[in-house]
Amino acid sequence: MNLDTPEYRYSGHINLDTSSATLLIVDDLPLNIRLLTQVLRDVGYRLLFATNGADALDIARAEQPDLILLDINMPEMDGYEVCKRLKSRHSTRRIPIIFLTARGEEEDETYGLELGAVDYISKPLRINSVKIRIKNHLELKYQRDFLENLSSLDGLTGIPNRRRFDEFIEHAWINAAKHQQTLAVIMIDIDYFKQFNDYYGHIQGDDCLKEVAQMLTEQIDFQHNLVARYGGEEFVCVLPNMDGYQTLALAQKIRQAVHKQQIPHQASPISELLTVSIGIAATVATEGLQPEYLLKQADKALYNAKSMGRNQIQCNMDNLNFSVRDCFDC
Ligand code: GH3
Ligand code: MG
Ligand code: MG
Repeated sequence: MNLDTPEYRYSGHINLDTSSATLLIVDDLPLNIRLLTQVLRDVGYRLLFATNGADALDIARAEQPDLILLDINMPEMDGYEVCKRLKSRHSTRRIPIIFLTARGEEEDETYGLELGAVDYISKPLRINSVKIRIKNHLELKYQRDFLENLSSLDGLTGIPNRRRFDEFIEHAWINAAKHQQTLAVIMIDIDYFKQFNDYYGHIQGDDCLKEVAQMLTEQIDFQHNLVARYGGEEFVCVLPNMDGYQTLALAQKIRQAVHKQQIPHQASPISELLTVSIGIAATVATEGLQPEYLLKQADKALYNAKSMGRNQIQCNMDNLNFSVRDCFDC
């Protein structure tokens, strides 16, 4: 098969210009793929190809295309089955699918749409209208992604909100349990923030929260980890596959970064600068437990950090059979 090497890209950001979208074309006949490629390449799309269902599922999961053009009649696994499997997997269920098929009966079309495809186009293809339909569906997809992103961000700080956090930790937990890996969390709570507001005013309080949030996003590897606003002046990091020592090292880095920010806090009884208390917990995820367990452990650790004088890190890692109760001064 003399097709160009597929181009891949990671699509994790909002982009409202659909001309650089990634499309996955699935057809068992290379000639059909070639035909579509010639038409669609002019637009600027990045095109990925699969000539069977199994490859299509792998590529869809790994590359997260913006749209899938899916043939129905294919040996081994037909397009309906591919569609069902894509829709049943969390990582691929949101990718819009358009059936492009020689099957023109109404019941075929109805069945395809019932399976969750956004469109069903019968051959012979009317190329111009196919191009417009693709563009329309891509725009809808981009708008949906944009709104979804917006609804998972905190309005004040712009970092992920509690809703996004709940979603992330749920999936991180399931994934960690499947592979018997650790999952860690770091809870960060600003010390005496009520006094900060009382002394400097609410607007400066807001600015302070923004600064701390921004600093936190710079401390983590955001491709694998998440930092979210957990509550008013509380933040949380979720760290898949990080062990207790790595988590502790990151927590120290965070506390030192807060210190480096040198945010004045004249009303704090413990320091002239803004400080945070940190609780960390890590555990090997198992199916019998829930992520709430981990959060409770981190919460207890945070409570200890507060009651032992604030501006410190406390750890709760009983499941890993190790415990650290040091206090780190900047
Ligand atoms: P502690 O050291 O025990 O954590 O004390 P604290 O004062 O930081 O904690 P407390 O829970 O008593 O008060 C939290 C304060 O955070 C009170 C609330 O006004 C403030 N806060 C919560 N959300 C926001 C916000 O969005 N903006 C501002 N400016 N303040 C907020
Ligand atoms: Mg506080
Ligand atoms: Mg608090």
